[in-house]
Amino acid sequence: IFITFEGIDGAGKSTHVQAVAERLRAAGREVVLTREPGGTALAEKLRELVLHAPMDALTEALLIFAARRDHLQQVIEPALQAGKAVLCDRFTDATFAYQGAGRGFDLAVLAELERWVQQGRQPDLTLWFDLSPEVAAQRLAGARVPDRFESQPAEFFRRVNEGYRARAEADPARFVRLDASGTREAVGQAIAAALQARGL
Ligand code: ATP
Ligand code: C5P
Repeated sequence: IFITFEGIDGAGKSTHVQAVAERLRAAGREVVLTREPGGTALAEKLRELVLHAPMDALTEALLIFAARRDHLQQVIEPALQAGKAVLCDRFTDATFAYQGAGRGFDLAVLAELERWVQQGRQPDLTLWFDLSPEVAAQRLAGARVPDRFESQPAEFFRRVNEGYRARAEADPARFVRLDASGTREAVGQAIAAALQARGL
């Protein structure tokens, strides 16, 4: 099974990915924990470029999809073929949300790149951490040095969050929307309920 974690910066993805891994391992599954952009040596190099070198939105989208292609071929597909659970902190919905809704890049072009790169592969389940940019910024304040996306204004993250909402509404069978404004415990319980409902 392939599970992705999505949401704006500071929404709580990294906090919960580990707990989901522990739950699945306790149930006897082998789990691969990974993230995007990144997840392979090459993709981590591309991540550094994307996060720190200014570039136009098409260049950004191409580098992110190049990283994703390598990640799929080297890590995700082999793990899924071996019957493992793959938990990925961000995937293609992030590209539609950040490069598409956030930066205004053509969604039809992103859909075409998705088709070429993924050859039909889609997550089985996507946990979307829905959070306002104001609360996310409070949680991140002082936590770390911002990359070039995290220093964007709240309006950028509002567009990104609405981009996620549009993706979730377009594919309700795949998405679970989590109210990420709750406590860690409340969000954790909502995730546990969603997994249980899918027999996980
Ligand atoms: P990024 O995409 O930028 O890596 P993220 O979505 O992975 O962000 P986290 O790193 O999990 O977000 O959380 C951001 C900060 O908010 C962390 O300091 C974390 O401890 C804290 N946090 C996470 N969940 C909650 C919560 N429910 N209530 C309060 N604080 C939280
Ligand atoms: O979630 P993580 O902190 O690993 O993401 C790194 C940065 O890359 C974030 O600031 C996020 O906003 C940005 N990003 C992006 N486009 C993507 C995926 C991530 O701009 N498709």
